[in-house]
Amino acid sequence: FTAGLDTLRGLPSQSTDGYHLPLYLNTGLVSEQRPAGSDEAAGVGLYRTELPFLVRDRFPGESAQRSNYRLILQTFAPRPVTIRTLDIGGDKPLPYFPVEESNPFLGWRGIRIVLDHPQIFMTQIRAMLTAAVGLNNLHILLPMITNVSELDDALRLIHRAYDELTDEGQVVQLPPIGAMIEVPAAVYQAEAIAKRVNFLSVGTNDLTQYLLAVDRNNPHVARLYDDLHPAVLKALIATVDGARVHGRPVSVCGEMAGDPLGAVLLLGIGVDSLSMSAASLLRVKGVIRSLSRARARELLSDALACDTGAAVRQLLRAALDDLG
Ligand code: PEP
Ligand code: MG
Repeated sequence: FTAGLDTLRGLPSQSTDGYHLPLYLNTGLVSEQRPAGSDEAAGVGLYRTELPFLVRDRFPGESAQRSNYRLILQTFAPRPVTIRTLDIGGDKPLPYFPVEESNPFLGWRGIRIVLDHPQIFMTQIRAMLTAAVGLNNLHILLPMITNVSELDDALRLIHRAYDELTDEGQVVQLPPIGAMIEVPAAVYQAEAIAKRVNFLSVGTNDLTQYLLAVDRNNPHVARLYDDLHPAVLKALIATVDGARVHGRPVSVCGEMAGDPLGAVLLLGIGVDSLSMSAASLLRVKGVIRSLSRARARELLSDALACDTGAAVRQLLRAALDDLG
């Protein structure tokens, strides 16, 4: 699919039988530059906010954050931009907020940190809501949700920020809010989570690491890390089933979405959108346009009959070779 990728520019991301699977961009840039892939993407499916926090020597204030979020919202308006709240800890430590832990991936990270420091969370939410004034293309995404109570607490704070700003006379809107599904417990509670939010977004990078008990950055166990593992596929199906009970859309924003083999399986599973780095957009579009949803479903069912990730990969590679 690498030859002639340019000919795919501007074409819809749809299967041969007309199923539309929109492709969004993952980004986290801080510069004035338009991110690569800006024209091709249906919007931003994951804006990681850690970078603007990492390049400073202390927590950026509300107005610095606002300019940053405004830039990305403006660049893509009227297309939606999903901004994720701070996901530090784990593999993303902040130099000015040291956290010493022996198991950082199981420790103080993501939503856990900001719920313990509500002022950090409130400042970020206020910056997001005010950045979106007049554009109204903001979506907010909450990372590392493990317990429904964390979601309830985060939603309460978002509403409080909205009320505060409204009381201050600002004409902010309450945006659609989504939860990341990236912890196994959240998969099993997808229905309860979906009930509380407007959309779900699956982070297959963390979900794979937590399902397979494999540190995503540890070379000693890298060969055990496989986001096409049948257990990951089953978790994705369970997530979509839970979301459907409440009619909520499901996006996938982990690396699996930008892998042509993964994208075929996600088309079969029936997720509503994929989000990936700019470099993957055209390649994934090429593969989506090369087969029918019915064929993708057949491949998914064959994949589910496999016992190992290696067997799933072999199956998908052979199928994509046949497609050319
Ligand atoms: C993920 O975990 O799949 C994800 C998209 O988030 P991050 O890679 O930033 O942890
Ligand atoms: Mg993650």
